[in-house]
Amino acid sequence: MHAAELIERKRNGEEIPAAELREFVAAYARDEVPDYQAAALLMAVWFRGLSPAETFALTDAMVASGETVDLAARLGRAVVDKHSTGGVGDKTTLALGPVAAACGAPFGKMSGRGLGHTGGTLDKLESIPGFRVELSTDELVEQVREIGLAVAGQSADLVPADRKLYALRDVTATIDEVSLIAASIMSKKIAGGASALVLDVKVGEGAFMQTVEDARRLAETMRALGEEAGLDVVCLLTDMEQPLGRAVGNALEVREAYETLADGGPSDFRELVVVAGTQLLGLSDLGLDEETARERVTTSLADGSALAAYERWIRAQGGDPDPTLLPRAEVVSEVPAPAEGFVREVRAREVAAVAMALGAGRERKDEPVDHAVGVVCRAKRGDRVERGEPLAEIHARHRAAAEAAGAALLAAYEIGGEPEPRPLVLDLIR
Ligand code: URA
Repeated sequence: MHAAELIERKRNGEEIPAAELREFVAAYARDEVPDYQAAALLMAVWFRGLSPAETFALTDAMVASGETVDLAARLGRAVVDKHSTGGVGDKTTLALGPVAAACGAPFGKMSGRGLGHTGGTLDKLESIPGFRVELSTDELVEQVREIGLAVAGQSADLVPADRKLYALRDVTATIDEVSLIAASIMSKKIAGGASALVLDVKVGEGAFMQTVEDARRLAETMRALGEEAGLDVVCLLTDMEQPLGRAVGNALEVREAYETLADGGPSDFRELVVVAGTQLLGLSDLGLDEETARERVTTSLADGSALAAYERWIRAQGGDPDPTLLPRAEVVSEVPAPAEGFVREVRAREVAAVAMALGAGRERKDEPVDHAVGVVCRAKRGDRVERGEPLAEIHARHRAAAEAAGAALLAAYEIGGEPEPRPLVLDLIR
């Protein structure tokens, strides 16, 4: 394999044979190809795309760059997992894991630490006092065996080629290409060893994919990669024009997940938990039809068994599940509606920017996040509000930060005539 010549061929739109692409990725992972050549190839891919065969070769080469775990083989049972392409207020794992475990489907997940407006799942979990995200693979397997549920930080040995390439993409404007995103996500899922996966592909201004067509393309690409690797995948396409649920911010989101497991919570978040939970159970080895799966999920929320599974899980990883112990911000202020009318939009990207400015997220991997701060959108799209009624709450460390956030958050809201309803779940692909 000659790196410069391979880059030239991709630049010219040629298909690269799988063996050469694998060799390139393997050599890059061993530091035998420099960053500047990998960056040039990524940019050529950004312009030219990858064929299905090339996308699979890239995925497979990334999986082969590190250790793999076969959770299902070690547990002797199918293990289900879920992944979201990332959205504002997306705390789905925190509720879905306990629902799956309560219904008898083992749920094991390795999670990354996400950049952006709020932390990733690991940061949300770390807002729980005492919670430990660093589990060895053996501990993860044992915990899933004992209580049906574990979520841990991704081991450094899992897909090291993706870690390097993702960092390079981040600084070379090559993140937003469908085959690169699909290969990156699916390599980690395949190496992580679950047997089946529900993929939630977010669509809208608060997401990677801004249109349903692009989201569908990403979903189809990931489903095909899963199929080649023997992983059953169901994809949901869900709305991310406005935040999911009401809470955006680490501890605030944990509290909202807890309320949802206690049979409350915002209706859109609850709907997603039920829809994704139904698909997860359908993919598990329980042999349930869709109607029975849905019934089991809603029962687990109503009878307290999902909440009990959450409490077992948090304790198993050293945390205290009591939501009153979650960190709280010093200043909580309300943002009043400037006029009466219907909420027409709560723009996710702008809400995200407010949460980020308050300190809920990070721009660089090594930055800490503030677990206590964030935003609660008390009014969502379609809600009617009176003038002066609270649209949202700001949770901040200082009054000045709360005031700046309040003005920015108001700009994220559009108030006016009643909007056309917009569904949360836009499509389901299996
Ligand atoms: N998440 C990932 O893990 N990889 C991407 O490329 C995009 C989102």
